[in-house]
Amino acid sequence: MNAEILAVGSELLLGQITNTNARFISNQLSELGINVYYHTVVGDNAQRLEKAIAVAETRADLIIFSGGLGPTKDDLTKETIARHLGVSLEFDEIALTYIEQFFAKRGRPMTENNRKQALILAGSEVLANHHGMAPGMILTKDEHTYILLPGPPKELEPMFQFEAKPKLSVMLNTGGVIASHVMRFYGIGEAELEVRVQDILDSQTNPTVAPLASDGEVTLRVTAKTETEQEAQQLIAAKVAEIQALVGDYQYGNDDDSLASKTVEMLLDNKLTIAAAESLTAGLFQSELAEIPGVGDALVGGVVTYTEGAKIKQLGISKELLDTHGIVSSECAAAMASTVRKKFGTDIGIGLTGAAGPTAHDHQPVGTVWIGIAIGDEEPITYLLHLSGMRNTNRLRTVKFTCHYLMQLLEERGFTKRY
Ligand code: ATP
Repeated sequence: MNAEILAVGSELLLGQITNTNARFISNQLSELGINVYYHTVVGDNAQRLEKAIAVAETRADLIIFSGGLGPTKDDLTKETIARHLGVSLEFDEIALTYIEQFFAKRGRPMTENNRKQALILAGSEVLANHHGMAPGMILTKDEHTYILLPGPPKELEPMFQFEAKPKLSVMLNTGGVIASHVMRFYGIGEAELEVRVQDILDSQTNPTVAPLASDGEVTLRVTAKTETEQEAQQLIAAKVAEIQALVGDYQYGNDDDSLASKTVEMLLDNKLTIAAAESLTAGLFQSELAEIPGVGDALVGGVVTYTEGAKIKQLGISKELLDTHGIVSSECAAAMASTVRKKFGTDIGIGLTGAAGPTAHDHQPVGTVWIGIAIGDEEPITYLLHLSGMRNTNRLRTVKFTCHYLMQLLEERGFTKRY
């Protein structure tokens, strides 16, 4: 089976939003072994959409639509497909009741165009929407299967995963189970990681191993296809162990983990507290940690000390130190880390200073960053990064490297880390 993803929405063509739905669906289809040959984007225009459907039908067995299922005039995906296929639209009672209850619960009047969302293509199977109002649908007609999904990713993603994907699995008659596991790495580039696991990549059959790099991180997705879930998990575990033997030092987590979530987990598991003094990141480190529930038992507080004056006044760092070594220096990062640790009375202190860009700062080239980490009364340890010229990427990378180095240091000191 091969597929085409047809995303509908003028906002996509205008560059107002990115077509993340196509990326998500492609990723999911690859797990099912379905080849995606084309991604198409078309605006909210019935004629052009109909033409795009006709083209897709010449080159794909499965056509997956994203967007245009809502109540407004420009939401015309269903109507256009119905006309193109010569099928009628009919009300789905369950979807209608769901929409009515949605409005009743909020005490808002339901307008007529909201009822429209409960219209489905005659003969299609409904894909329930547990995160919004518009139901999705799947319809097989003649040689083709059509799947219609709502535009908002928070509705589309669970609908595809839990409603559409199992149905596709049955249609493919795979008769088995497809399971996958994501290994997450940091501190190693994609190219180097691929070289280290080259033999595994070259010889992969089942499970397959797919590398992916984004935002300075590298992931390996291990996917197994077998008769039973247990067999799939065994195959995955064996492959994961093989990979870990080669590059396990760089693995920080799995599946939905993030560097921040693993850092927080490690701090909480070991009952450690932390504070941060941030210059170039201006609070981003604390903000990333704060996204993780429960962090309040670890993150005590911190300060943003952006200017030289703030570093002197808020942290009590001597002007002499800054004049001698500069703001973007190992000495400054170390002083920031140890003073903030003492100020907040925490186990760990973090000091972040650097030239985020786009221009040099304190005579240091763009992307020069110093990370200081103070653990207990030990002498602070500092790390030098040479990042790129992109300001916000540099700020985020600094946070990620801080998490990465902190976890390494804690592990070296015997603190437990969950794998
Ligand atoms: P709604 O009921 O919200 O109108 P819909 O199914 O009609 O849903 P659209 O109106 O096309 O969908 O899009 C709604 C929102 O979903 C967009 O404003 C955008 O935020 C998001 N969205 C739509 N298509 C995509 C896409 N391909 N990738 C990522 N996000 C998208």
